[in-house]
Amino acid sequence: MGVTDCHVHINPVWEMRPEARAILGTAGPGAEIERYLREPARFLDYLDRCGVERAVLVNYVAPETVGYTERANDFVAEYCRADPRRLVAVGSVLPTHPDPGAEVHRLAAELGIRGLKIHPPHQLFAPNAYTDGRQTGLRAIYAACEELRLPVIVHTGTSVFPGARNKFGSPLLVEDVAVDFPRLTIVLAHGGRPLWMAEAMFLARRFPNVYLEVSGVPPAKLLEYFPQLPRLTDKVLFGSDWPGPGVRDIGENLAAFRRLPLPPEAVERILTRNAEAVFPGPSA
Ligand SMILES: [Zn+2]
Repeated sequence: MGVTDCHVHINPVWEMRPEARAILGTAGPGAEIERYLREPARFLDYLDRCGVERAVLVNYVAPETVGYTERANDFVAEYCRADPRRLVAVGSVLPTHPDPGAEVHRLAAELGIRGLKIHPPHQLFAPNAYTDGRQTGLRAIYAACEELRLPVIVHTGTSVFPGARNKFGSPLLVEDVAVDFPRLTIVLAHGGRPLWMAEAMFLARRFPNVYLEVSGVPPAKLLEYFPQLPRLTDKVLFGSDWPGPGVRDIGENLAAFRRLPLPPEAVERILTRNAEAVFPGPSA
């Protein structure tokens, strides 16, 4: 069983708004990544060089801030057809969709989407906004994911993209979802970094189906950010957030992670087995 990177941004960056793309432009890897975005085979070669077996390709719809539209779902579905064993397609449905529950079913059945992303700071709503009547469509989205056993990845923590509303990045806003949809698998992306690590850790310990995913945190600093992590290694997922701002290379991140003073079984769980549980291989 190989390593899974649970958070990679293979996204249609040509759809980004110029001011959002400028953030990637200064820190991103440039021309080489553009080739990966257009040619899955080249990206798979890159994963081989990094020592990574599988990558979860996190795509989402956020027209008002980053600029991604529903075409992101078609993009990631098509991309992952190159190797569904190694590439896991994650897409998204906005709660304002006319029939969000049916759309989740369509993404799973027709496009082969295997997880849903919710990005509250970029999508401009709280993940629990079904509880106060602001985004009632969220209830249908979570219910459909629970029924279809699709994990939901929720961005927790801040974002530096223009227009982001970071008040929606608090992990505690996800607690309602964990309570109301107890069979739903929830991944707290970025573990609430840099403001709310303790909240994210609390939820992952408290709820059997809530996982803590550590992408975006410099791996060498992981145990500073999450001092309790060694006691929760069956609920932690490795991810890089590559090629997001400040993340140069997946292989470098992986090597830094392996240098942490964790027992080998814990490293094995975080890099491979936990991800197999949350993102199982494609059904035959
Ligand atoms: Zn991300």
